[in-house]
Amino acid sequence: MTTYLAVDLGGTKLAAALVADGVLSARQQLNTQSDKSTELLRQNLATLLASFHDQADQVVVASTGIIQDGLLTALNPQNLGGLDHFPIKAEIEAITGLPTLVLNDAQAAAWAEYHAAGGQYANMAFITVSTGVGAGLVIDGQLQIGARGIAGHAGHSLADPNGPVCGCGRKGCVEAIASGTAIGQQGSEVFGENCTGQEVYQRYLAGDEAATAIVSRSATAIAQLVADLTITNDLDAVVIGGGVGLAANYLELVEEALSSLPAVYQPKLLPATCSTDAGLIGAALWAQACSQR
Ligand SMILES: [Zn+2]
Repeated sequence: MTTYLAVDLGGTKLAAALVADGVLSARQQLNTQSDKSTELLRQNLATLLASFHDQADQVVVASTGIIQDGLLTALNPQNLGGLDHFPIKAEIEAITGLPTLVLNDAQAAAWAEYHAAGGQYANMAFITVSTGVGAGLVIDGQLQIGARGIAGHAGHSLADPNGPVCGCGRKGCVEAIASGTAIGQQGSEVFGENCTGQEVYQRYLAGDEAATAIVSRSATAIAQLVADLTITNDLDAVVIGGGVGLAANYLELVEEALSSLPAVYQPKLLPATCSTDAGLIGAALWAQACSQR
């Protein structure tokens, strides 16, 4: 049995664990906050991966951003800072001496959720509503990566042509309206500067009218995205995850917005079940699937 050293490189964390046959062990995590220097990432990777020395046969990485030819880039370069064009595959191979595969973290999470559902939804999307809005697609039981690693970046599809400019440069993306960051920004206009998405959400749960409008706008944009992905790809199910996606009553708001649409736009809507380990587990399962091809 192959043992994978799975690594999850996110905006504010770096996690690693051993995964054999879909079972995770020895999980470790470093909080990297928002410091996005290449030197610090190299040091953090070396520190984290040193303890796994000689315990794995292969490394697989679920990373934020777009992964093409082992290079890390992003539709929204602000999310990466100095890490734009970071040679993640080469760096990790240099540290570990092991062959390394890299894929996008939302794609990895989609693959984990597909397996968590026992493979019963051959056509499904995973949408994470978090700091940003990420997504991954499984079509005919195959994880969609794309020729340039971009497949599934549905958070950058259009929600409102008159909406705010997104970090990717396009106006009115779902991410610019529905993400935790966007919820916080809209909250700042009402509740004062530096209002976070979490604060707005607490106010929504407490019944505040303005906060309810902001959170409802987010959930409606996600419901429309669910409908668009469903009608484009003939989906069986859509799994919603992420800090906002799994917050109290959010899925119900999405369901409510979706219920006003014709039945053909309404797939089975499910909460994510793999939580914070989705990237690690999904990446390892994907490496396993690649090796069996
Ligand atoms: Zn965008």
